[in-house]
Amino acid sequence: MSDPSQTPVPGNWFVDPVFLGVPGVRSDEEVLAWQVDALCAQTDPEAFFPEKGGSTREAKRICESCEVRSECLDYALENDERFGIWGGLSERERRRLRREAG
Ligand code: SF4
Repeated sequence: MSDPSQTPVPGNWFVDPVFLGVPGVRSDEEVLAWQVDALCAQTDPEAFFPEKGGSTREAKRICESCEVRSECLDYALENDERFGIWGGLSERERRRLRREAG
């Protein structure tokens, strides 16, 4: 049974890798093409959508060595992603960044 306190991982979080292509080969036409090189795709997605008050440390540690970190953060800011860790930042940190950017 699923835990109701857990933020559900959105079904559209990742586009099907078969559709996107293989790691290292990105399509210019697909806005989510950077996700083929997303490190978190190879890990536990639940760590990136922790329950309220849950630890984000593990997800952020993975983001630190992710080569598409800036693409990921840009995407989250442009698309106003409200939930989860994107580009190494939590929802609150992204909100702050957006405020500071004016
Ligand atoms: S920066 Fe983090 S959340 Fe974004 S793709 Fe990389 S590992 Fe995933």
